[in-house]
Amino acid sequence: MAEFVQVLDAGHGGHDPGAVANGLREKDLTLKIALYTRDYIHELYEGVKVYLTREQDVFLSLSERAAFANRLGATHFCSIHINAGGGDGFESFIYRGSYANKSKTNALRNALHDVIIAETGFKDRGKKEANLAVLRETTMPAVLTENGFIDNKNNADFLKSDANLRKIALAHAHGLAKAHGWKPKAKPVPKPSTSGKVFYRVVAGSFADRENAEKRVRELKAKGIESFIDEYRA
Ligand SMILES: [Zn+2]
Repeated sequence: MAEFVQVLDAGHGGHDPGAVANGLREKDLTLKIALYTRDYIHELYEGVKVYLTREQDVFLSLSERAAFANRLGATHFCSIHINAGGGDGFESFIYRGSYANKSKTNALRNALHDVIIAETGFKDRGKKEANLAVLRETTMPAVLTENGFIDNKNNADFLKSDANLRKIALAHAHGLAKAHGWKPKAKPVPKPSTSGKVFYRVVAGSFADRENAEKRVRELKAKGIESFIDEYRA
């Protein structure tokens, strides 16, 4: 079966820090969210291969990011950003204008957007359209997420926690899975004992006759030795 190729794009990088405020840089947050999202998708879902436009603090032009996804023949492209400019909450973008796969692109975005709002608790700023290069130049359905405002004190405090960056990442994984109908991986069958501890059982006789077994238990109990009868079939 053909693999689903999901490209994740961590916004900015290298000499381009993106938005900077409250001791945070957009490029660091987007990279962490993208890396965590990739790991969650690979851990949780079958038949999906995630590629990142960057896995380190390096600069890539917007056209290079789109070209990377086009070259791979990606099924879907998701660019991850942090907002700035004095707002509060989450918003998502698809490419503005009319194009062949727009209704599909929008349906995928809507599913992702709703899961992210539900799981992060971000204020919902709406589902938007814009003429952004990564959305315009990618040939597959593409979305861009703006995950809180770096210059909003409350949003910045939220983004300072690694646990919250993981929460945003998990919401992207869940949202993309819902949008694309990815199948969850089968859970491993739990082993009867996970402690690895070894226990020893003392056997003080095996009897074909229940009465003899009960007699042995009475004898042991009389000597102060706790015992019980365990039935088995030979
Ligand atoms: Zn950005």
